[in-house]
This record gives sequence, structure tokens and C-alpha cells, in this order.
Amino acid sequence: MPDAVVIGAGPNGLVAANLLADAGWSVEVLEAQDEPGGAVRHDRGVDPDFTSDLFSSFYPLAAASPVLAGLRLEREGLEWSHAPKVLAHPLLDGRCAVLSRDPEETAASLEAFAPGDGAAWQELREVWERLRPDILDALFTPFPPLRAGARLAVRLRAAGGLRLARTMVLPVRRLGEEEFRGEGGRLLLAGNALHADLAPESAGSGGFGWLMSMLAQTYGFPVPTGGSGALTGALVRRLARRGGSVRCGEQVTEVVVRGGRAVGVRTGSGEEVAARRAVLADVSAPALYGSLVPERHLPGRLLGDLKRFQWDFATFKVDWALNGPVPWACPEAAHAGTVHLAEGVDGLTRFAAQIAMGRVPDRPFALFGQMTTTDPGRSPGGTESAWAYTHVPHRVRGDAGDEGLSGSWDGREQEVMADRVEAQVERYAPGFRGLIRARRVLSPPTMESMDANLHGGAINGGTTAMHQQLVFRPSPGTGRPETPVPGLYLASASAHPGGGVHGAPGANAARAALRGRHTRPLSHLQNRLTHRDRTGRRP
Ligand SMILES: Cc1cc2nc3c(=O)[nH]c(=O)nc-3n(C[C@H](O)[C@H](O)[C@H](O)COP(=O)(O)OP(=O)(O)OC[C@H]3O[C@@H](n4cnc5c(N)ncnc54)[C@H](O)[C@@H]3O)c2cc1C
Repeated sequence: MPDAVVIGAGPNGLVAANLLADAGWSVEVLEAQDEPGGAVRHDRGVDPDFTSDLFSSFYPLAAASPVLAGLRLEREGLEWSHAPKVLAHPLLDGRCAVLSRDPEETAASLEAFAPGDGAAWQELREVWERLRPDILDALFTPFPPLRAGARLAVRLRAAGGLRLARTMVLPVRRLGEEEFRGEGGRLLLAGNALHADLAPESAGSGGFGWLMSMLAQTYGFPVPTGGSGALTGALVRRLARRGGSVRCGEQVTEVVVRGGRAVGVRTGSGEEVAARRAVLADVSAPALYGSLVPERHLPGRLLGDLKRFQWDFATFKVDWALNGPVPWACPEAAHAGTVHLAEGVDGLTRFAAQIAMGRVPDRPFALFGQMTTTDPGRSPGGTESAWAYTHVPHRVRGDAGDEGLSGSWDGREQEVMADRVEAQVERYAPGFRGLIRARRVLSPPTMESMDANLHGGAINGGTTAMHQQLVFRPSPGTGRPETPVPGLYLASASAHPGGGVHGAPGANAARAALRGRHTRPLSHLQNRLTHRDRTGRRP
């Protein structure tokens, strides 16, 4: 019997398993799919000569994460590769904002939009550099980040305290307008905020856009050499060397609770796998509490709160094998790993508003990845392995375009939407379509079929909006990995600090399991105090 069973071999599950194995625990990871990795996998399914990342590609959060740094995955053969430029946001009038790892170059690009904007960027960067160690510590440790938080508070006071806190909660549109006179800096901040489901007008999108932009400035957007799955491979090898194992094709259908404690799991084949000390779940919070843990073991208040759980946007992705480099109208975009395609901050607002209204966007904001530009081995010389993803509503109420997309995502709808994404690329790169050798479409239901955590095509384990962060993640409580069931820990992106590949939720869960301390979530205590019924409403 292993000390711990980990449900799911995504990056968080694998990080958790590694840390438990480091502490001498025996660990068995059960993965539903035929291969480990979750949303960190690549294949050659688009064209046999092209490596295509199935889901995630660029890992600034991994580069900044002390959790992953501590695993020393370079010893397992992991190497990183960078594009010549990190990020570009071209506009139809020929201007292009470029984020380079050299801050002077970024500043020069923004200065071309409006005099003074280069200096404004450098000022944002200086604040970041002063606070960076404490922000990263606070971000990647369990909530509340007591030591890191206290240090951060001291430094925040020195850096302008309340004013800076105000900046962090600003909507990114407002932050951009306060900091920059021209569109370039505003675009970099707002486009980066939309790496999460944060519209330019959302509270807190300023802080998130700033954080992602500054991570990009300091760490770039690196990719694992050879394909995203190289990161997974390194985690699996490291675990195996410490005696841990990953069993694929094993879907967990139930967390077994006996005597009020998680004692193992049951798989789809009916096998019960016992765990001596802990069960760690790299699954979404709604899946854990809504199906894996029998309802009778959960407080009504938590179940009620889960009804209010908000997923992040659904996602629609297209992968391409291209016969040549993308013919960008703005030549600067050719050197960037990531290219944002939306017509200004207004274009981003329009896109996010259409999703909020349940409409499939007519001109989808595309995050475009140029993978061969970033890692030359991904496809034969002179070609490009590329992808773009955009977002769509979970519940489609209409099509903002005129092709009647209903959200059924049947064969016709997938092709129509993929054509729409291509049309968006074509606006900024005339001739793009003529280069397509092969394409693959990943609609929201396809994504979910390849990784159950990508519910309806959500990519971040739940919204990044402020009402579901920190003590509100995944539901109002402590923001910690402990669950109401002793011995069971939430280890996925649904837990603080959320989505992205950085391993922090997995590490937090592993450390909590190792401490073996069971902290009852606040919601459980509140449940006793307020006598709410199982629907979460006051009687
Ligand atoms: C299209 C896309 C693009 C993205 N781009 C980026 C990016 O560029 N950079 C970045 O940092 N992040 C990106 N992300 C987000 C990032 O990939 C996720 O936040 C991250 O993978 C979350 O890790 P996880 O371990 O929590 O979950 P996952 O990676 O989703 O892994 C969960 C695993 O658990 C397994 N599982 C689920 N239920 C069960 C069960 N009942 N039994 C057994 N196994 C189960 C799943 O099969 C899966 O393997 C992207 C995500 C997507 C989908």
C-alpha cells in the first residue's frame, strides 16, 4: 500500500508526487488518460514532421517558480528555449508593440507609440524588481503567505503602499491609461491580462496584466526544448528515480472515505487502491466535491458554495503545420514566440463583452504561438509549427458572427470557428492561409475528453477573477489545500494560486499532507455557526 495516492498526472499532480517521494513517502499516481502530463503534452498528430503542443506551451510561471526550480529538472534533461522576442502585438495600421527580454528594447518599442512611454515601462519594471522576490514567495506559498506577506507589506510601504495596492486592483484598461500615453504599453498589459479570463474592465486585471508582463520581461516566455511534454517527461523520470510510479489509463471514480478519513480511491475498473497516509487530488474542485467524494462526507455549506463556482472562459484551439514562416504585415511579429491578435484594447473589450453576453466572438482575440521560431527543432527548417487559441462562452446564446454557431461544436461548427480564427490571423498576416499544410481543431468538448480538468474547455481550473482568488479559491474558505475530509488534499489549479504551469498547488498540497495537519476550512466552521442547509441558503 503506498503512503499516498495522487489522482491525476498533470504538472500539479506530478510536482506533489515528487515532493512526497523526496520526503521518503511511497507514491502512486493514477492518471485517466493513456499518458501523463494533463495540459502539458505534445505530439506529432498534426503532421508527422511537426511537433505540436496539445495545450500549453509558454512557461514564464514555471521559470519564476521556486517550486520547480527546487526540483532541478535540468538534471532530468529538461532544457529551455526562447524566441528572439517574447511577445508582439501588431495593429492593422502597421504599428507593433514588442516585449523583448531586453528592457531597453521593450522601452524603445513603446516609446515609438508615445514619447515618455518607454520611461513609464521602466518605472513599472523598477517597482517589480524591488518587490519581485516577495511577490513570488507570496504567490507560490500556501495562503496566507505569512512570512512572505509580512516582508511584502514592509516593502510595499516603502514602494508607495496603498497607492501600489490600488494599482494592483485597477482594471487593466484604467491602469494602461494611467501609465501610458500611447497604445503600445496599454496593449501589452491588457493582452497579458487576457491570458486569464480577465476583461480589460475587470477589477484586478491591471495587477494580473502587470504581473504577466513583468514575468515576461524578466523571464521571457520559455518553452521546453523538444515540446511541452519534455517538462512532463522530466517530472515523471524524477519521480521514478525516487521509487514513485504513474499508472495511466486509470480513471479514479471515487475517493474512499472510512471513519471520516480518506483512505484510498476506487478506479473505473472497480479496483480499490488504498493510501496509508493521504490522497491528493489533481482534479478540479467541482469534480472532487461534485462527484469523487460522496456527498454525505461534505458540509452542506461547501456544496452550496460550489454551486457558485465559476469556470474560466471556454477555449477553442487550432494547431497548424505551416509550409513557411507566417507572413506578418508587421515584420517585428516574425521574431516573437507569442503574438496577440486583437485590434487595440477596444478589440479586447469587444471580444470579452461578446463572451460575457454568451455570443461566439466574430473577431476572436487570438493568442498565436510560433513554436519553430521559439524552438527550431519543432519542425523542418523554413517551416513553422504554430497554434492559436481563443475563447468562447461556456453556454452559447448566439453567434456574434453570421454563421449561426450554436456551441454544439459539431464538425461543421468546428470548421467554421477554425476558419474564423484563421481569418483573424489573415488580417495581420495576409497569405497565411496559403501556407497551411495541415491543421487540427481542438474544440471545448474535445479538450475535456483529453483532460477532464479542462471542463468545457476551461484552462485555468476556474476563473482568475478576484472573487475566486486567495481565500475565495476554490470557494470561500481558507484558500488552503486541506479539504473537509481529513487525509484528502486539493492539488490542482482549482486551488490557490490557480492556473498556469508552476506547480504551486501541487507543492502546497504535498506539504500539507506531509505536515499531516488537518485544517478545517473556514466554510466548515461557518457551516456550524450559521446552520445553513445543504443548498447553502439560510433556512
Ligand atoms: C489550451 C491551453 C493552453 C494553455 N497555455 C498555457 C501556457 O502557455 N502557460 C501556462 O503556464 N499554462 C497554460 N495553460 C494552463 C495550464 O496548462 C494548466 O493550468 C495546468 O496544466 C494545470 O495543471 P494541473 O496539474 O492542475 O491540471 P492538468 O494539467 O489539467 O492535469 C490534470 C490531470 O488529471 C487527470 N485527471 C483528471 N481527473 C482524473 C480522474 N478522475 N482520475 C484520474 N486522472 C484524472 C487528467 O487526465 C490530467 O492528466 C494552458 C491550458 C490550456 C488548456
